[in-house]
Amino acid sequence: MDALEHELRQELIEITNRLSSRGLIRAAGGNLSVRLNPEEILITPTRLAKGYLREEDIVVIDQQGHLLRGENTPSTDTAFHLAAYAARPDAEAVVHAHPLITTAFTVAGREIPTGILPEFEIFFPDGVPVIPYETPSSRDLAEFCQPFLKMYDIIVLGHHGTLSLGYSLTIAWLATEHLETCMELLFYAECLGGAQPLPEDTVNLLRDLHRQDRNIQP
Ligand SMILES: [Zn+2]
Repeated sequence: MDALEHELRQELIEITNRLSSRGLIRAAGGNLSVRLNPEEILITPTRLAKGYLREEDIVVIDQQGHLLRGENTPSTDTAFHLAAYAARPDAEAVVHAHPLITTAFTVAGREIPTGILPEFEIFFPDGVPVIPYETPSSRDLAEFCQPFLKMYDIIVLGHHGTLSLGYSLTIAWLATEHLETCMELLFYAECLGGAQPLPEDTVNLLRDLHRQDRNIQP
């Protein structure tokens, strides 16, 4: 194993632990992957409790999802990850999580509200789509999500969870963390009588801030 692979395995464990400690993934739920090189992908295994992930638990697959190295079975959502990479050649990492509050909004049949929180408008100026329910780990789900992944860095899967991608594991994780933080705040606002929208010109200013910021990112 070369230094890069060791570093990526360590980062994968670090991000998995962050997701786990925040309850964004629980027990054996959720899965993560990162490109190792143009032909190979590191991905978490199925069934293992993610909070206890070790370097040797992570497996290496090819672009078709075949196991190349490792003792474990790759995630049952492997097709989902491959569809995300195929949709977005610029993506280096994919995070699939089960955030409680974000998912609860979809279980209740609610859209993801916009125009209320500055953090949301800065990080998600084009909104966050909710994909209608499809069977978890199915090819139908992967294919149905692909067009949305071409346009968005994070999508919400109805009655299920989220999928985010980025040019690193940290960036993919941040999208999930920011979204769930916003949804928690919106949930509390709902409990206190309902969220109040920001003025339209304020929302437009916040969305422009994101676009200026994006221009200086790699
Ligand atoms: Zn899932």
